[in-house]
Amino acid sequence: MRFEISKVLDAIEGRVCTDPSLARAVLDLAEVIRYQDLDGGRPASLLRLGMVIDTLARQLEEDSVPVYAVVHRALLSDADLTSNERMVVRRWADDGLVEVLDNPGDRMLEVADLLGLPVLSRVRFDGLRGRFPWVVEQPGRVLAPVPDAGGPKLVAHVGGGPKPVAGDRSSTGVKLLARQWRCPEPGCALFGGGGGGAFADLARVEGAPAGQPPPSLRNGVPTCPRHGARLSDAGPRPRSEVLAVRIGGLIRRRFVLTEEQPVLVGRAPEGTGAVMLGQWLNDEARRWISRSHIRLELRVGEVIVTDVSTNGSGIRPNGSLVESERVPLAPKQSRVLAGADMVELYPGVQIGRAEALPSGASFTPTSVMAEAPTMAMRLPRP
Ligand SMILES: [Zn+2]
Repeated sequence: MRFEISKVLDAIEGRVCTDPSLARAVLDLAEVIRYQDLDGGRPASLLRLGMVIDTLARQLEEDSVPVYAVVHRALLSDADLTSNERMVVRRWADDGLVEVLDNPGDRMLEVADLLGLPVLSRVRFDGLRGRFPWVVEQPGRVLAPVPDAGGPKLVAHVGGGPKPVAGDRSSTGVKLLARQWRCPEPGCALFGGGGGGAFADLARVEGAPAGQPPPSLRNGVPTCPRHGARLSDAGPRPRSEVLAVRIGGLIRRRFVLTEEQPVLVGRAPEGTGAVMLGQWLNDEARRWISRSHIRLELRVGEVIVTDVSTNGSGIRPNGSLVESERVPLAPKQSRVLAGADMVELYPGVQIGRAEALPSGASFTPTSVMAEAPTMAMRLPRP
């Protein structure tokens, strides 16, 4: 049982991140964890985060959807959580997967504003409409997870639709996210590489610079939300592209390609940041697709795909699904993936820019809770 819970928590861990390119909604972890009505269970439970993430995935009709969690520091020692759950949240905090704050204030809304993300909360935030007009003006930007017969669902505070709506990044967000930032606090998990000193500016910012969270703005000054310290500008943020894997019409996951790190995609590729497809493939596709099938690189802003497989791939120019327009990509061949172009590893197994790949409803997203130990925790699959 304990082992199974650990597996669920590991699965949930893969769905929390502060990467502005990958997070799809913002939430307050304490609120979700303490949302007892959601399942009628313990006063606090980290598994509720999994339930809310699954709900978000279902309503976005997309798999592997990560959330940006703002965490009140008190939660790290919350006695209503199990010691295992506390340990897990602390690890997320240490690894910068969540944002831990002494006083979250309206940080959740600030993040949503800077990144253009929807907010998952039962709170209406009408009182903050002055600073964040979208909370009342933009339908679908704030949604409440509510219990329902078939598992939780999301209900928009404004507008009727259950589908979370992303807005544009605010102009401030665009400006802040064009740079990378460094916190003077040593070991800062969000804006690492600090420590000050004469050579501070030469030190490489640790972690994934392209995935740094948005700074907090205090009196117009970029500030570390965790330490309240003024952040220094560490140069332009490295270029990146958000790509997505679509299998059978459903986006299975998104990933970020940077100029520093090529990404291998295949049945079971090895290496940093490699994207493994094996778990989503049928037997035939698994036989066809090589362990490492394609390599993706970002060079001077261009996405280059190289076939490294035995059987080859195909390019679907401008995302066209017309068979006669499919261009073969032979083993060892490379090609620039422009605009809405997709590379197809096997019929129906496609990779392209996330913004150009619509996701469909024909498949049910994989539940992050699939390993959950009790039936009560299991979400029904339609
Ligand atoms: Zn900091």
